[in-house]
Amino acid sequence: MEVAENCSVKVAVHIRPLIGDERTQGCKECVTVTKGKPQVQIGTHSFTFDHVYGNGASPSTSIFEECVAPLVDGLFQGYNATVLAYGQTGSGKTYTMGTAIKDGSETGLIPQVMNSLFKKIETLKHQTEFQLHVSFIEILKEEVRDLLDTEPVSKPPTPNGNAAKVAVPGRPPIQIRESSNGVITLAGSTEVAVSTLQEMAACLEQGSLNRATGSTNMNNQSSRSHAIFTITLEQMHKIQSASAVNDTPDEDMGEEYLCAKLHLVDLAGSERAKRTGSGGLRLKEGIHINRGLLALGNVISALGDEKKRKEGVHVPYRDSKLTRLLQDSLGGNSKTVMIACVSPADINSEESLNTLKYANRAR
Ligand code: ADP
Ligand code: MG
Repeated sequence: MEVAENCSVKVAVHIRPLIGDERTQGCKECVTVTKGKPQVQIGTHSFTFDHVYGNGASPSTSIFEECVAPLVDGLFQGYNATVLAYGQTGSGKTYTMGTAIKDGSETGLIPQVMNSLFKKIETLKHQTEFQLHVSFIEILKEEVRDLLDTEPVSKPPTPNGNAAKVAVPGRPPIQIRESSNGVITLAGSTEVAVSTLQEMAACLEQGSLNRATGSTNMNNQSSRSHAIFTITLEQMHKIQSASAVNDTPDEDMGEEYLCAKLHLVDLAGSERAKRTGSGGLRLKEGIHINRGLLALGNVISALGDEKKRKEGVHVPYRDSKLTRLLQDSLGGNSKTVMIACVSPADINSEESLNTLKYANRAR
C-alpha cells in the first residue's frame, strides 16, 4: 500500500446559526470567522483549522464535497475512514451528521455519503461486484448497544425508565474483537446486508428511532452516548491478465478483493457532567463519556504529531471502547475528519472555546 499523505487527520469547524432559544434570549454572536481564511476567533483566542463552515465563512464548496467525498473515494481504494462530529449538546452534531429522522435528514452528511456511494457503485458495477453492510451502534457508559436490533424489549420499564437500555435477556453483550491482522470487528452486533439506497436509509432511520426511544425522559441519554453508523464495502474486482487479453478473454481472469469501512460518528456531548439529581447517576455517566472523548483526543493528538509518530509513541487506543472500536480506522492508512460543531451564542462561549481547543489539539 502506498504511504498515506502527510497527515491523515483533517479538522473542520461548523458554526451553526443562532437558533430559536438563543434568539429569544437575545444572545449575541461571539464566534467570528476571518474573511477568506479557515480561521476562527472567540474572545482573544484565534485558531486556524483545515476548513471552517458557517457564520460568514466562505468555503469553496460544501462540507460533504470538501471533507467527506474524498473518504468515500478512498473506501473504493480499500482505505478505512472515520468522520467524527464533536461538540457540546445542541451545537449541531446530529444536524451535521444527519443521524436523526427530522432535521437535516436530507442535508446531513450520512445521507450524502449514501447517495454518492450508490452513484459510484452504479458506474462501476459492470466490472466489480459489490457487497455492502451497515451496522449502527451506540456506546453508553462504556457499553455497546445495538441500534439495529429489531427484537422488542420484553421487560417493562424500571422506575428510573432505563428498561430500553437493558440488553435483551440471553443475548451476549456485544464485544469488540481484534483479529491477528489488526482488523477490528464487533461480535454480536447486527450487520445488515443492503443492496439499495432505500435499504441503507431504512437502517439509518430505524437506528435513529431506536436511539431516540432508548433515551429516558429523565435525562436525555442520547447526548451522553456516541452513535456510530458504519458502512462496510466489499469489492471483488475482475482483472484480466496480460496473456488473457490476447488469448481467450474468459480464461485466466484474476480477482482482487478489497474491504474497507467508513465510520460516521455522532459523538457524545462534550460538556462537563453536571451534578444534578441526588443519585450520582449522572455524574457516573459523565465520567464514562469523558473517557471516550478523552481517549479520542489523546489518540488523535498522538496521530497528528509527526514528531511523536517518528518516535513511535504509544497510541492509547485501548483506553476506551470508542477508540478501541475505531482503532483500525484512525491512523495508519486510514483517513479521519473531525468536525467540531459550535454554537455562535455568547451564552455558550465557554463550551465553544473548549471545543475549539480540543479540535485545535487534534491538528
Ligand atoms: P447536537 O446533536 O449537537 O446536540 P443538534 O444537531 O440536535 O445538536 O442541533 C441543535 C439544534 O440546532 C437543532 O434544533 C438543530 O435543528 C439546530 N441546528 C443545528 N445545526 C444547524 C444548522 N447548521 N443550521 C440550522 N439549524 C441548525
Ligand atoms: Mg445530537
